[in-house]
Amino acid sequence: MKSLATMKSFARTQGRAGLLAGAALALLAASVSADSITRTPFGKTKNGQAVSLYTLTNARGAQVKITNYGGIVQSIRVPDRQGRLGDVVLGFDSIPRYEKDSPYFGALIGRYGNRIAKGRFTLDGETYKLFVNNGPNSLHGGKVGFDKRVWKATTTKAAHGVGLALSLLSKDGDEGYPGNLDMRVVYTWTDDDALRISYTATTDKDTVLNPTNHTYFNLAGQGNGTVLDTRMMINASRYTPVDKTQIPTGALALVAGTPFDFRRPHAIGERIGRPNPQLLIGKGYDHNFVLSGSGLRLSARASSPRTGRVLTEYTDQPGVQLYTGNFLDGKLKGKGGKTYATRGAFCLEAQHFPDSPNHPEFPTTELKPGETYHQTTVYQFSVR
Ligand code: BGC
Repeated sequence: MKSLATMKSFARTQGRAGLLAGAALALLAASVSADSITRTPFGKTKNGQAVSLYTLTNARGAQVKITNYGGIVQSIRVPDRQGRLGDVVLGFDSIPRYEKDSPYFGALIGRYGNRIAKGRFTLDGETYKLFVNNGPNSLHGGKVGFDKRVWKATTTKAAHGVGLALSLLSKDGDEGYPGNLDMRVVYTWTDDDALRISYTATTDKDTVLNPTNHTYFNLAGQGNGTVLDTRMMINASRYTPVDKTQIPTGALALVAGTPFDFRRPHAIGERIGRPNPQLLIGKGYDHNFVLSGSGLRLSARASSPRTGRVLTEYTDQPGVQLYTGNFLDGKLKGKGGKTYATRGAFCLEAQHFPDSPNHPEFPTTELKPGETYHQTTVYQFSVR
């Protein structure tokens, strides 16, 4: 595409007809702008580290904002069925709020997404102790997980989009986990409104790893009520029921005939209030689903009847945690002063099963020196 200056000089030399042609070209240039990535300062952490906010804009004008504090997806602006852009993820306008109040809004989670029972596991005959931060268990990496770290960031080019590469070194013993872990996450925002998250990692000692992303979505727009009317489909015929501290019992229970059957779409609110013992434990959906199939495949699809926005998730992971914001209490004030209602969002955390290090029957989360960990998860937006 020619630059605006070239077009203007072309129009000048071509007289009136040329002027009109130049104006048309300029309009075209404005409407099919190329994708871009910009960086703006996003304040400092309490330790004085400066962090940035990266704005990834695709050729259609849809936008994702990501900060290198916690690798947090701070905003996703995508069109509704009328073509109006709206922000569909919960979050905050400043770093101190993320540091103080965040229930992992938008964050990269690690080393271990979800719970490890009693904050301990045994590997190669050695017992490792983790920070206990969720009843008797360790949740989402412990006290200072990936979500509270400042990541190194570099911008990258993609064939049909823009990207942000984030990396960090989690040192041997970090939060109790063994091995120096080199972690890299690349976010790519494509021209067809897909946020692709690619994770890779290597270690110099046997360890366990289960990173994920913890974005809270509300397809009616962040802060616009609950997600109870959101229709959800999950490609799973089994899930992992939990004990009262939300640790898997080990069973892979069939979803058929239960409120966990999302093989065909159901509104999140349709069965959430049933006196099902599992729903009572989670105060709603807060469970890992055992995805059918393998490789990068369809894992879940959510749609908002109010706005027509659709989110389709693809992942190569064995499981996905559906969490329906049951612990949001309506008091938390987020972006633009919006308050976040109980069940005001859903998360679809692509992952290995919770507490896998203590369940040898579950797919393994072990990573050994010489191996490379890989995960790809895609959040694709569209309208209907
Ligand atoms: C967990 C919930 C927890 C939430 C936010 C989810 O992944 O399963 O129990 O409340 O994260 O911390």
